[in-house]
Amino acid sequence: MPLPLPPYEIECPAAVSSAIQVEVVNTGWVHNDWKRVVDDGRSGPIHMPLLVGVISHPDATILVDSGLGLATRQGSYPPFPLSLLGSHDIPAGMAMVERLAEPPAIVLMTHLHYDHVGGLLDLNAGEVWTTEADLSRYHGVGLGLSRALKTQVNWVPKRLEDGSSTRVLGRPALDVLGDGSTWYLSLPGHTPGAAAVLVQAEDGPWLFVGDTAWVDAHLDGARRPWLTRLAVDAEPRGAHESLQWVRQLRDECPALRVITGHEPSLADGARSTPP
Ligand SMILES: [Zn+2]
Repeated sequence: MPLPLPPYEIECPAAVSSAIQVEVVNTGWVHNDWKRVVDDGRSGPIHMPLLVGVISHPDATILVDSGLGLATRQGSYPPFPLSLLGSHDIPAGMAMVERLAEPPAIVLMTHLHYDHVGGLLDLNAGEVWTTEADLSRYHGVGLGLSRALKTQVNWVPKRLEDGSSTRVLGRPALDVLGDGSTWYLSLPGHTPGAAAVLVQAEDGPWLFVGDTAWVDAHLDGARRPWLTRLAVDAEPRGAHESLQWVRQLRDECPALRVITGHEPSLADGARSTPP
């Protein structure tokens, strides 16, 4: 069923007490020009961090996306022609595998674009959640450019559609650990099966929206330039509806921390603060 047009009926996430800490870390950089990222008339270099969420739950360490990793530092990933998309830096010590003491139990993918999956090559994660829609779209083409990503990752595709899952914040959602703390939400458009992650951390709710918005400026009214949207958004109408949903949530729920995929002001990271 199509989503209703905005404004949506939104109920902000309730405050709950939990022992979960959330951290946002930067695994490296992709370099671009502002005029190709935000349609607000500005131009000049923009250094976009490759952000990953680290959810420290008493029962499991969960990541949101994986950034890029060692193969990018060594120059073998992304392969041609994706290597033409921009220049990347993965400084020593910043890849996820260099930050974690042990493999994560679960990685929750917001979508399967190359700059979010590359770090999986290093991680030996227990489960890598994606959506059926994204895996069927990218397993044969996008991920096919890296045979290791197809064969060495324990992909766990999830069905995120009305009728097959409960709804959270008005969207189809799955309870990741079964305790109501961490939710995997349908947020399609940027890719056919894009997803968001809602976490009830000790300092309040956090929402990771992946590349539905690259930077916070996309939540403030600006968008990706139309040529960029044409190149990167699989379903433009869905992408815009999902962006409008995020904007409305951010505006109406001041306690909610919304984390966009490549926001430069988060390059030094962010973390839960004890309540
Ligand atoms: Zn991205």
